[in-house]
Amino acid sequence: MEPVLLVRYAEIHLKGLNRPYFERSLMKRIELALRPLRVKVVREQGRVFVFGLPESAIGESAQKLTRVFGIHSVSPALAVEKEWEAIECAAKSLVAARIAGLDQASFKVTARRADKRFPMRSQEICRLLGGRLLEAFPALRVDVHQPDFYVGVEIRQDQAFLFAEELLGVGGMPVGSNGHAMLLISGGIDSPVAGYMIAKRGVSISAVHFYSYPYTSERAREKVADLTHILAGFAGEITLYLVPFTEIQLAIYEKCPQSETTVLMRRLMMKISERIALSCGAQALITGESIGQVASQTIESLTVTNDAVTLPVFRPLIGFDKEEIVEYAQRIGSYDTSILPFEDCCTVFVPQHPVTKPKLEDLRRSEALVDFAPMIERAIAQTEIRAVD
Ligand code: ATP
Ligand code: MG
Repeated sequence: MEPVLLVRYAEIHLKGLNRPYFERSLMKRIELALRPLRVKVVREQGRVFVFGLPESAIGESAQKLTRVFGIHSVSPALAVEKEWEAIECAAKSLVAARIAGLDQASFKVTARRADKRFPMRSQEICRLLGGRLLEAFPALRVDVHQPDFYVGVEIRQDQAFLFAEELLGVGGMPVGSNGHAMLLISGGIDSPVAGYMIAKRGVSISAVHFYSYPYTSERAREKVADLTHILAGFAGEITLYLVPFTEIQLAIYEKCPQSETTVLMRRLMMKISERIALSCGAQALITGESIGQVASQTIESLTVTNDAVTLPVFRPLIGFDKEEIVEYAQRIGSYDTSILPFEDCCTVFVPQHPVTKPKLEDLRRSEALVDFAPMIERAIAQTEIRAVD
């Protein structure tokens, strides 16, 4: 009897001929998520099994996998010989653990026979095993409609697998199976959620953050590193680029029209982000913008911001209300860090009366008042690069 994890995939089964590619991506993500434990990950007919885990690590490892994109659900399971006695014995030990301390519980047996050579049909397995469990555990009763838990039996090529628990995963697609994008991450609530949503679609993430010493503190930068770490809990390792932005911000502040400073700053952030994205193979930019949330996120402002780059810009929160974004941030565990009160470089230089309907020609003209090119080069040359996981 060997403890294993049985993993059901999310959307991968839809992928037809690409399926082996997606399965391999998922297997790799599982291995990475369980590091430093060395495990053996095996796929078989629409399932992935994780072998080689010490029994004491099963619970925690199952929890870790619920955060891996591409996984629909995970069950701590027992792998046994395909013989009735072993199956019954494993089922009893799982049920004993499942109902420990309960006076009563309802259950149902479900069986899948992937190996048709096995002499009992699924229905027979359910009936016989259900009966044996009822005899062994007086606290149990059968409920086929809404049981408290399922006892699952899967008869596979080499072994049978039993489980009595199913933990729901985050869904999505395995990270790395759908390309690479660059997240513009601030210390706020929105951008980590935006990164989460795109990573969930299988996109691997790098991140870029602009800071303005001495107007923003070291702690503001560390807060961004913490947020990146939370995101990496789902998205895997993230390369974080920390770009000094003070020189550019001061130049905008001193030389360009006050009302346009925010939008100009956003254009320059986009330009630098695109440069870094291209240098590391990222194919798109991601921001946490949502229509109308602030002056720099009106349709006109977004148009002017977009104009600064040619890479596609993904804005997964575009149609979300702040409340919905907050709820999401709480769910993924970034909210409490996001609301820590450290100044962001945008808030330091906010104009009193920002334009809400900037015109592209005006902004281009204002931007031409300053020779930003050498400043952009200096900012990129002084960028600090960190691997965050
Ligand atoms: P957030 O909660 O993500 O900070 P926000 O509502 O405060 O968003 P803005 O400050 O206007 O909105 O920023 C819009 C987007 O621009 C952010 O979601 C983020 O993607 C990007 N951004 C803003 N400030 C920075 C920064 N200092 N470094 C990198 N990206 C930034
Ligand atoms: Mg912000």
